[in-house]
Amino acid sequence: AAEEGFDIEDVEGAIEEAGHGPLPVLAVVGRPNVGKSTLVNRIIGRREAVVEDKPGVTRDRVTYEAEWAGRRFKVVDTGGWEQDVLGIDASVAAQAEYAIEAADAVVFVVDAKVGATDTDEAVVRLLRKAGKPVVLCANKVDGPSGEADASYLWSLGLGEPQPVSALHGRGTGDMLDRVLEALPEAPAQTFGTAVGGPRRIALIGRPNVGKSSLLNKVAGEDRVVVNELAGTTRDPVDELIELGGVTWKFVDTAGIRKRVHLQQGADYYASLRTAAAVEKAEVAVILVDASESISVQDQRIVTMAVEAGRAIVVAYNKWDTLDEERRYYLEREIETELGQVAWAPRVNVSAQTGRHMEKLVPAIETALAGWETRVPTGRLNAFLGELAAAHPHPVRGGKQPRILFGTQAGTKPPRFVLFASGFIEAGYRRFIERRLREEFGFEGTPIHISVRVRE
Ligand code: GDP
Ligand code: GDP
Repeated sequence: AAEEGFDIEDVEGAIEEAGHGPLPVLAVVGRPNVGKSTLVNRIIGRREAVVEDKPGVTRDRVTYEAEWAGRRFKVVDTGGWEQDVLGIDASVAAQAEYAIEAADAVVFVVDAKVGATDTDEAVVRLLRKAGKPVVLCANKVDGPSGEADASYLWSLGLGEPQPVSALHGRGTGDMLDRVLEALPEAPAQTFGTAVGGPRRIALIGRPNVGKSSLLNKVAGEDRVVVNELAGTTRDPVDELIELGGVTWKFVDTAGIRKRVHLQQGADYYASLRTAAAVEKAEVAVILVDASESISVQDQRIVTMAVEAGRAIVVAYNKWDTLDEERRYYLEREIETELGQVAWAPRVNVSAQTGRHMEKLVPAIETALAGWETRVPTGRLNAFLGELAAAHPHPVRGGKQPRILFGTQAGTKPPRFVLFASGFIEAGYRRFIERRLREEFGFEGTPIHISVRVRE
């Protein structure tokens, strides 16, 4: 591929970068005010967003991408919630539990100036139970005189405390080195231990769309008790359910059934739970209440699944309640509000009557097939050649940027790298995506296209 002015190393580098599989997940947990958000900002090298958030404002984004020493991973930030009606211990425990569930490794942040509190001890018990690798971050060690404070935290029994000043950056590099040692290359949740096991489904959607009703309906009499099945993990929050002769793992079903009535922070928990479930799953079945207007919250959930790169099915529930008028408006709303997943298989169901339940599995299988599709390089380039001949990029400044060649760098979801002779406009990129979908399917999957421009 040293053709057309790209040297082979650039090409290989670009393919490797674009082809990365799903990233391992790091959760940052701890009490309020120990400096989690400040630390997350350091880790992801960001100056915007998190710290700007005003108290009480719901943050729907909890997962960020980060890179250290050439390795990429995701960070789940749990700093965005307020202490709520549950009381401090319960709130810390609840948010930590969700985050730890979804994580491959955990940074546990303690305020070294304050020392270990009872709440910290409670989190330590959760961490022990989860058995995930932990890096203990002794934060607010702003100078050498604070090192002694950090050493008191040996008492937590989590190994060596890493003295850090999230605020000034002191010690964060050493801590991140430890994090990389603790993090697996690929997420175990998604691709390690579970390879060859049941496919993993996250059933997500805003409160009251009918998630637990649907789960009960599909599980029916055939509900499989998780630890009865040999060789499966005894993860109490996941549930094995046989559908269409195949066993599927519904992840984080405890989260679906759990009825924690929270006043403050409920939306934040819901976001965290959705993010956690999505991280653990291969395919997200997004439930939308068809009887009500599609909301911003529905859109956020869709965005979360798309950004996580999961296979997606959209199920419109409560179909039994729809009259003709509502049906008419629903179709308009789907077009205008959910255009970002126009490619996802759609099923119109009723968890109450059981309507179209049998269509769920074929839709899930379609989405997973799209998610795993690989287009051979020869076919891709024949397609790109025809595309460029029939619909060349518009001429800009007397020049015509061309796609020179391309390759699919990865799957789950499909990722493409295109090499171009000049800047390719967003409109033309969207056109390429549309045509790729028409040609190769990709039903039910986001696709990533990155473009490299010859220098
Ligand atoms: P969170 O609630 O755990 O997310 O905590 P924040 O990141 O919001 O930090 C709480 C407070 O501690 C803020 O006022 C931060 O500026 C402060 N803080 C965070 N990290 C450090 C640090 O390393 N040293 C000092 N001195 N203060 C810090
Ligand atoms: P979740 O919060 O998403 O788990 O929602 P639930 O399963 O608890 O359902 C919320 C409410 O919607 C309950 O009162 C259900 O009985 C009702 N519901 C769920 N699915 C359907 C449906 O298909 N049709 C009708 N009419 N009601 C439904």
